[in-house]
Amino acid sequence: MMTTLTSSSFSLILQPLKPPKPSKISRLSKPKTLTLTVKSSSEPKPIKNPSKNAQKQKQPTSRNRRRSSYGTSRRSILKKTFSQEQVKFTAPISSDPQVGIIGGGMAGLLCALSLEKRGVKSTVFDTGIHGLGGRMGTRIIDPQPLVFDHAAQFFTVSDSRFGQLVNGWLKRGLVREWQGMIGELEVGGQFVPFLSSPPRYVGVNGMRPLADSLLAQTSLVNVVRPCWISKVEPFNGMWHLSENGKPRGEFDIIIIAHNGKCANRLLGSSGLPLIARQMKRLELSSIWALLAAFEDTLPIRGPVQFEGAFVKGVDSVSWMANNSKKFLSSQSNDPECWTFFSTAAYGKQNKVPQENIPTATAEKVKTGMLEGVEAALGLSKGSLPRPFYTKLQLWGAALPINTPGVPCIFDPHGRAGICGDWLLGSSLESAALSGMALANHIAEYLQSGGVHPEEFAVGLHNEFRPLEGHEIGQFPGLETKEKEESQTYQLTT
Ligand SMILES: Cc1cc2nc3c(=O)[nH]c(=O)nc-3n(C[C@H](O)[C@H](O)[C@H](O)COP(=O)(O)OP(=O)(O)OC[C@H]3O[C@@H](n4cnc5c(N)ncnc54)[C@H](O)[C@@H]3O)c2cc1C
Repeated sequence: MMTTLTSSSFSLILQPLKPPKPSKISRLSKPKTLTLTVKSSSEPKPIKNPSKNAQKQKQPTSRNRRRSSYGTSRRSILKKTFSQEQVKFTAPISSDPQVGIIGGGMAGLLCALSLEKRGVKSTVFDTGIHGLGGRMGTRIIDPQPLVFDHAAQFFTVSDSRFGQLVNGWLKRGLVREWQGMIGELEVGGQFVPFLSSPPRYVGVNGMRPLADSLLAQTSLVNVVRPCWISKVEPFNGMWHLSENGKPRGEFDIIIIAHNGKCANRLLGSSGLPLIARQMKRLELSSIWALLAAFEDTLPIRGPVQFEGAFVKGVDSVSWMANNSKKFLSSQSNDPECWTFFSTAAYGKQNKVPQENIPTATAEKVKTGMLEGVEAALGLSKGSLPRPFYTKLQLWGAALPINTPGVPCIFDPHGRAGICGDWLLGSSLESAALSGMALANHIAEYLQSGGVHPEEFAVGLHNEFRPLEGHEIGQFPGLETKEKEESQTYQLTT
């Protein structure tokens, strides 16, 4: 039987991880609907109409900043790095709290969805020009169209709370099981299928459309996109968010639902040194993605036409998948759209600024990856058909390689939290679980009125440990069987 997600489930950990002891989090689960009352005779009265009240507040300016309610000078808060002073909000939490979520990937979206289930309003900010989803990226090239998932390829389910959610997506027709053959492809063309595998799921029309549909049935979630939050400032008991100087709203609580350089920059002067330190400890791999469309079927010889393979023994390629087969929509004479990913080692070796890839690097990497595909398939040199369309992309901050092994991080004094895949692992499932966990934790914190903030601190001091798994994520139960147990197929020409 499926269990529902409650904050009592903070010990939730993906199967392959051996987490440190879960941090003590007080306040066990309460009924789903949240009644937000702030009660404390010693505390100032809760704000009755926060939005009206907020409108009355002046915006932070260089003149009035020094008089902020948490009693520290703006100058000292803005001091970069970890010498920054900790923000301590003492104002009571509003009776109609607003949560600002910075990042609309799986973690941020599920955080918003789960806050809504607990009756809490939120706004999701995301940089995506074409849609939400972050590393759930799908590229559609018209007019044919050619369709490629260019980051997350599929996901598995090992946690019943995530399973319950996925069942709902299956019923709504947002995802379906990907039953195509996948396995390991050894250099030279030897393919070893995963004979038993947990169910694998894909977005029916790709990962991005799935992300874009997740908030479709919400009423308490506002989405602002494309929007790059460049500053978060604590002022008069609220977090003020802005995009290159343009105010983007005031929030009782903020959530950083992204990682990497951008998050480090945002947190560097936020007044959240503990959160900033944990974020700074995160290490990420870099992976090249090559999307390639071929007029004809790739020459995979042998009895098995696999649809996805973890490639072994080739430096420049770690994964290849046939999107045309995965999406079931293509006809037999349609082109084949393949996604190829490099290894993390190759990504590191050929790392350049992802926004500005030098032409020479792009050419070198593209050639190297196509040669890698040729070698993996055991084709003779130069015999791989030329793709008629290619697109190369570098995921400079691709997947986490270490983790604190906690579902979420929350700083109750600073009223700020973090969710994301890296807190639990490196997969869509871990991102989803993290977002759900943080939402429930925040709902409990709000329900408490914030009178004993120290009880709600979580993940601020956990040590990190290395993450294991495939180069593109952790998929519990998806490991190769011992070779002698399983069938192998020779694919060489
Ligand atoms: C090449 C590759 C292949 C992968 N394959 C798989 C796979 O097959 N299966 C699987 O389960 N997982 C896979 N993963 C991992 C999976 O994609 C991630 O674990 C998951 O998508 C992470 O979700 P997230 O919400 O934590 O972060 P993200 O998806 O990174 O979302 C963060 C969002 O925040 C936005 N953002 C950043 N800064 C700001 C800002 N200042 N203001 C506003 N918005 C901002 C970003 O644009 C982004 O949309 C893969 C990842 C990569 C890179």
